[in-house]
Amino acid sequence: MKHTTLIVFFFGLGILSAQNFTKQDTLRGIITPERAWWDLNHYHLNVKVEPSKKFISGHNVVRYKVLKAEQTLQIDLQPPMEIISVSQDGKKLKFTSEGNAHFIQLKKKQVPGDFNELKITYSGHPREAVRAPWDGGFSWKQDAQGNPFVATSCQGLGASVWWPNKDHMYDEVDSMRISVTVPKDLMDVSNGQLESVEEQDDFTTYHWVVKNPINNYGVNVNIGNYVHFGETYEGEKGNLPLDYYVLPENLEKAKKQFVQTPMMLQAFEHWFGPYPFYEDGFKLVEVPYLGMEHQSSVTYGNQYQNGYLGRDLSGTGWGLQFDFIIIHEAGHEWFANNITYKDIADMWVHEGFTAYSENLYLDYHFGTKAAEEYVIGTRANIQNDRPIIGPYGVNKSGSGDMYYKGANMLHTLRQLVEDDEKWRQILRNINKDFYHQTVTSEQIEQYLSDKTEKDLSAFFDQYLRTTMIPKLEYKLENGSITYRYVDIVEGFDMPIRVWEGDIEKWLFPSAQWKTESINGTQLKIDRNFYIETEQL
Ligand SMILES: [Zn+2]
Repeated sequence: MKHTTLIVFFFGLGILSAQNFTKQDTLRGIITPERAWWDLNHYHLNVKVEPSKKFISGHNVVRYKVLKAEQTLQIDLQPPMEIISVSQDGKKLKFTSEGNAHFIQLKKKQVPGDFNELKITYSGHPREAVRAPWDGGFSWKQDAQGNPFVATSCQGLGASVWWPNKDHMYDEVDSMRISVTVPKDLMDVSNGQLESVEEQDDFTTYHWVVKNPINNYGVNVNIGNYVHFGETYEGEKGNLPLDYYVLPENLEKAKKQFVQTPMMLQAFEHWFGPYPFYEDGFKLVEVPYLGMEHQSSVTYGNQYQNGYLGRDLSGTGWGLQFDFIIIHEAGHEWFANNITYKDIADMWVHEGFTAYSENLYLDYHFGTKAAEEYVIGTRANIQNDRPIIGPYGVNKSGSGDMYYKGANMLHTLRQLVEDDEKWRQILRNINKDFYHQTVTSEQIEQYLSDKTEKDLSAFFDQYLRTTMIPKLEYKLENGSITYRYVDIVEGFDMPIRVWEGDIEKWLFPSAQWKTESINGTQLKIDRNFYIETEQL
């Protein structure tokens, strides 16, 4: 999910925190027994979209591998969308429904190791997006010429808001086909590569093929009177097709603004390794909302200007050196689409690393000082209202601090590694070692501890699981410094870089007071570390 203006975002979270969790939350949020016994292999989603009626209809063919012999299978689809029928091998099946969850009774004996297919036919007037992409669904808009301009967004809410699927993030299909039928004269742009176009009398079907694993919320349809331009990027894994779909009136603006796409790829391939979906190409697709990290078809609505709708989220000026939506949403190709959370409680794995990627983009093109100023500047957005990690098993995310507190935590860790090349190799290898996988925060934390050769357990507990910012208290007297940490979890003892005049040295604070001699009376604490300080 992307940024919102912070006010709306936190308002939204306030409502969530007052909620009690329901059985529906659990049916969405856990790996139920009716989900656990089968492994997704492939979806073929076939959907007709009729903007004049705000109506969609179609089917999804779900191919899965049987892991365990069970006969009841859970598929999710949110009302008011309705399942019309379910069949396997041409035989109609019975199902019972409990809110969004539908439990299908299979007739065919499910034998471990077998691949089976299920066809779910459905239709309805899908939930209309209230404030895409944060409060998503279908956005039924029009362009300035009055043509339909339609797009989906559904992170958090879930893809089952508009199509039937296994709506839990732990399991992804290995590949997907998306066939979208739209009124003729309009075009659909979805994920992956356009394989073919079929014209009927009043409608046209666009067949898109995704050759890589894809998470549910990444799947999207974007329908408009698009024009196309493109280029080829010579990247680490060879030639990567870049395709851009925009409204005709924005073509010239897009040709100027989208030069940042190859610049983004240069920076992120340097820091994170090869773009993770070469076979599917990379696209920017104009939409009638701000933007979203839809895999290989990043959606764009930042009005062809730098910053976040023209604003600098860091207050330093550096945020106006790049188009926030191009850089941030494309950063998610590595952290969200390549490495994906299993549970949205661990959403910092997407947003923390991607907010961090904004400063690495600056680091690559504008230097380390610019990058530092930017990431430190974004601390003004941190609320420390709730922990970054949310409650597990109920499809709820943690604090919006996952963005800039997450970014500053990673920036702090870069300082602790004290070797930028080593840090870069860790970021590249994390994308290799968790390539196309779904993960937990704990896996990422353990990985970073292993690769930095530091026990970071207290460090991550502090920043991810509490709202306390470590505070360094210190006294300078008689040529010595006395210091300690307060507001810390047990065992938190992160070293801090300081300067005594021109001399760089490290302090090793903990909960206990320590005293050591220093040269001179001036002490400068490195502001790259996300801590508070107080001279007593
Ligand atoms: Zn994001």
